[in-house]
Amino acid sequence: MLSRLRFDVSRSAGRRYPELSHPYRNDFQRDRDRVIHARAFRRLENKTQVFAPGLSDHFRNRLTHTIEVAQVARTVASALDLNQDLTEALALVHDIGHPPFAHAGEEELDRQMQRFGEHFDHNLHALRIVEQFEQRYARFPGLNLTFEVREGIAKHSQDLEPGESPELDELMPGVRPPLEAQIIDLCDEIAYNTSDLDDGFSAGLLSMDLLRGTIPQFAQAYEIVEGHYPGASERIRMHEIVRLMVNDLVSGLLTGTAAAAEGVQTVDEVRALPHRIACYSPPAVETIAQVKNLLREEVYSSGMVREERRVSIRKIAEIFDYLMEHPEAMPTEYRETTVGQSLQRTVCDYIAGMTDGYLERSWDILIGMS
Ligand code: MG
Repeated sequence: MLSRLRFDVSRSAGRRYPELSHPYRNDFQRDRDRVIHARAFRRLENKTQVFAPGLSDHFRNRLTHTIEVAQVARTVASALDLNQDLTEALALVHDIGHPPFAHAGEEELDRQMQRFGEHFDHNLHALRIVEQFEQRYARFPGLNLTFEVREGIAKHSQDLEPGESPELDELMPGVRPPLEAQIIDLCDEIAYNTSDLDDGFSAGLLSMDLLRGTIPQFAQAYEIVEGHYPGASERIRMHEIVRLMVNDLVSGLLTGTAAAAEGVQTVDEVRALPHRIACYSPPAVETIAQVKNLLREEVYSSGMVREERRVSIRKIAEIFDYLMEHPEAMPTEYRETTVGQSLQRTVCDYIAGMTDGYLERSWDILIGMS
């Protein structure tokens, strides 16, 4: 459909440290594999998406969410005839910079850094992970990913303006990323909004009646499922409905993007446009907004999620203070890879890399037992 806008791997601006090409994997395929083999990728398994584990073994964590995003994104890239390898690498890496305890953790780290006039941003942190903190190769630090994957990490969910972050000047600020990076943010939205409905329903925070009453597309899907499978259990009906919703939202992303791409002929034009091309159809925009509202009111601000958040924020703040006063409590090799940066940045990086479990254990050892 949009093959004229596909970012071909032969156009890649390459790697910071030149490498020989591989006999049967192209550079984007190699980047995808490098991400999967990174330690930070494996740590996603023990990072909260919305619900902390414990109540159920079936809630999404950051790793299963990432796999769901990759699945949606591959489908979209394939249907639009974009570069699936680049898309998949970007989807798999998109949340690699997330700190423990989901958005609560990110907000708390940012709040801590603001005390020093600095910030924490998970996309920029992801870039530092793949360029600096992953130590797996003898010849270079980080994963030595291609320019386009690093650019996509910085730009998939936000535009990068000239002068915004001097350290990111090489990633072409002011220029739109390729379509493969643009679709990631929307695939992420489709994946988490629908899975949060599913997990919120499992957690008992959302009822069928509430969902039907607030989301017209849900009500429509409900009628279809009722018509086809009148005897199905509520659990099965919920799965069928969520499946239909994912399908409709993905279709909305395909038609919206195809329509917005009309008249755009080349990848260079995609880059030069003042706005992004990837977008939903108007009905999908509405459904996404309705789902987000409902999730905000009934799930993200529920007592269950709020209490988890309160406890985890307090632990992050206490560990942050403790490490500012006792930097020697951080691993030696970690302090060595961050020479030359401020202590607060090193502490922030260290905490951001922690899994939920490691943060809990660190808190027990450093603070809880003292
Ligand atoms: Mg995500």
